[in-house]
Amino acid sequence: MRDSNEVLICPACGHEMQKVYIANSELYLDICLQGCGGIFFDNREFEKLDEQSENIDEILNILDNKNFINVDQTVQRSCPSCGSLMVKNFASIKHEVEIDCCYICGGKFLDNGELMKIREQYKTEQDRSEDFNKYLLSFIKTEMDALEIERIKGETNRSGLKRVFDKCFEKIRKKF
Ligand SMILES: [Zn+2]
Ligand SMILES: [Zn+2]
Repeated sequence: MRDSNEVLICPACGHEMQKVYIANSELYLDICLQGCGGIFFDNREFEKLDEQSENIDEILNILDNKNFINVDQTVQRSCPSCGSLMVKNFASIKHEVEIDCCYICGGKFLDNGELMKIREQYKTEQDRSEDFNKYLLSFIKTEMDALEIERIKGETNRSGLKRVFDKCFEKIRKKF
């Protein structure tokens, strides 16, 4: 667990990131206010954010009307928390916005504007959950079809079904 008072260095522009208190979600986020406007979330912070969209507004207000420097988004970044190389990954099932993810500590870095794009993918929370439900159902169908093929081949045992359930629970937990 990283020390929450530690000053992080922005992985995109090298400026020191500032701790910003987000009252709605009761957490401190690291935001590159003096450089590129990037935001770093640790694993727990990003999940917390996902649950209520009002707290995204609070972050967007902090970033509003500020001039940030441009950065090259194609460069591979190192995680500001643990130093591992980060990997570009889609932020949701819509596959529209790619963010930097650290597979070692679970940290995520969003460039300026990406949070807004994630926010704009769905007009309402209901749209988002409907889309997720559709996605989950098709995922379950694909997994069950694969299991059926294993059954025909005589390869299935109880652990096959458990594997499908585990994957589904993981998707529900992460909403992705
Ligand atoms: Zn920066
Ligand atoms: Zn990391």
